[in-house]
Amino acid sequence: MYSQIIDTIKQFDTIIIHRHVRPDPDAYGSQIGLKYMISHNYPNKRVLAAGGHDYTMDFLDFPDAVEDTDFEGALVIVTDTANTDRIDDQRYDTGAKLIKIDHHPNDDNYGDICQVDVTASSSSEMIYELFTYGQIEENWTLTAASARLLYAGIIGDTGRFLFPSTTQKTFDVAGELIKYDFDRNELHNGMYEMDRKLLHLQGYMYQNFEMNEDGAAFVKITRDILAEFDVTPTDTSLLVGTLGNVKGIKAWVILIEEESEIRVRLRSKGPVINNLAKEFGGGGHPMASGAVAYSWEEADRVIERLEEICASV
Ligand code: AMP
Repeated sequence: MYSQIIDTIKQFDTIIIHRHVRPDPDAYGSQIGLKYMISHNYPNKRVLAAGGHDYTMDFLDFPDAVEDTDFEGALVIVTDTANTDRIDDQRYDTGAKLIKIDHHPNDDNYGDICQVDVTASSSSEMIYELFTYGQIEENWTLTAASARLLYAGIIGDTGRFLFPSTTQKTFDVAGELIKYDFDRNELHNGMYEMDRKLLHLQGYMYQNFEMNEDGAAFVKITRDILAEFDVTPTDTSLLVGTLGNVKGIKAWVILIEEESEIRVRLRSKGPVINNLAKEFGGGGHPMASGAVAYSWEEADRVIERLEEICASV
C-alpha cells in the first residue's frame, strides 16, 4: 500500500495534507513531517498543510493558508484522523483523490486509498515507514526538519516511549530519526515545559482526584477551577497523563468543563476504554480516548461506566 501511496503522490502537482482538530504533536508531526518529505523530494510540487493553527503547537511548526482553488485537481492526504468529522478543514473532500494514513482503529474507512496500521505507535511512525519505501523505490532522502517533526510525533503519542503501543520498531525508527541534525533538547523543552499555573493545576488534580478500590479514578475540572488557575481547556492537554503514576490506578477520566460541553478524556493502563468513549459518541485508542458530555449527569455516567469496566477486569 505504501508503494501505491508513493505512485499516487508522484501523479499530482498539488498535494494538501490535513490532520485532526485539537492537534497534538503526532497530528502536526505526521502532517507537516510528510509535507517536508514530499516537498524536499519533489521540489516542483506544491505541498500545503491545511487546518487551523493551535498555539500549543507553536514550538513545533505552523500550517499553511489554503485557498478553495488549491483543492482543484489536488491530492488530499489526511493523517492521524480516524473519522471524517474530526478532520481539520472540512474541504478535505474537494480534491481529486483522497488518501487516509492513520494508526487509530479504522472505524471510518474513508479515502480512495486507506492505509491504517493499528500496531503503529503513531502516525509519524507510519510516515517514517512510507519514507523507507520512498528511499528504496525513489531514492527519497529526509531532511532534519522532517525528522524533527516525526520524532516529536512519536514521543508525543508514546508518552516518551512509556505507553504499551511502543514497540521495538518504534525505538528503531526513533534511533534513525535522531541521526538527523535537530535540537532534541529544545524540542523536549517545547513539549514538556509547563507554565507554573499549569503545574499548580496539576497539584490540584493530585489533591482532588478520586479513585476506588478497583483503580478507577476521575477528576473534575470545572470552569470555576479553570478560572481560578487561569488555565484554558486546551492548556490542560499536557495534564491528561498526570494520574498515570498513581499507584494502583487502572484507568482514569479527566472531565474538563468547556463553554457549552464537558470534554471527556480517558486514559488506561490496562482496561480497554475506547468502547466506553464510543458509548458516549466519541472514540480513540484502546488506552487513550475521548468523548464529549453535555451535562455533569452525563459525565457522572461516564465515571460509573469506567468503574464498571475496572471492576470487571
Ligand atoms: P485526547 O484526550 O483529546 O488527547 O484524545 C485522545 C484520543 O481520543 C485522540 O487521539 C482521539 O483519537 C480520541 N478522541 C478524543 N476525543 C474524541 C471525540 N470526541 N471523538 C472521537 N475520538 C476522540
